[in-house]
Amino acid sequence: MILAANFKTNHTRKSTAAYLEALELFLDASPAGCDIRVYPPLSALLRADLYSHTKIGAQNFYPAIEGAYTGEVGAAQLNEFDIKNVLIGHSERRALLKETQEFIAQKFAFAATQGWEIIYCIGEPKDVRDSGFEAVAEYLWGEFDGIDISYDKLAVAYEPIWAIGTGVSAEVQDIAKVLDMLKDKLKDTPLLYGGSVNADNLSSIISLKSCDGALIGGAALDVANFCKLIQIAQK
Ligand code: PEP
Repeated sequence: MILAANFKTNHTRKSTAAYLEALELFLDASPAGCDIRVYPPLSALLRADLYSHTKIGAQNFYPAIEGAYTGEVGAAQLNEFDIKNVLIGHSERRALLKETQEFIAQKFAFAATQGWEIIYCIGEPKDVRDSGFEAVAEYLWGEFDGIDISYDKLAVAYEPIWAIGTGVSAEVQDIAKVLDMLKDKLKDTPLLYGGSVNADNLSSIISLKSCDGALIGGAALDVANFCKLIQIAQK
């Protein structure tokens, strides 16, 4: 089971350090028995090797070791923090930062050459969802163009775009249908759900047979809330 907290553009270096300190204390006292990952903003990255229960990951990177990529962060910079896992394909980067499938595939291939763990995000917009399951399936498979689904450090997060940050999660039976379809093809790759996960819906979502965890934004911003979600997953 993977539980991942995506901070997006929230938290500072100071508040991230306090968050991780509290999270590690909580996990010391009650080990999660699952894979806990936290993705702070790049400016708040802390040395991943200093934390024993939590994996720290990068929300973004440029697919190069280093070079002339103004404003970007490459492998040399992430290595300095011992970062070994990354998010790729988040819908906010696809929509707001205009990351194309081609560029996303480039990032994926680069991350794989670095041996990083990847949470690869896919998800359909509302109009596609409204067109029915077949349309959703076609859209989601399109987001695997250029992606090596046999990469062994891959987890896939299904995040319907209309459910992200809206407080409206997808219906559990709809999540089940999509995750079952993905599992059929992706076999042993862990599958996460993301999109307005909270303490009320986490249990029913992670109980689904094809669900191996959750990628959580808003409900994980407060460390006490994230610990509560971990406690729910422990049950
Ligand atoms: C996300 O950031 O990937 C996400 C799912 O956010 P939220 O939980 O706030 O919907």
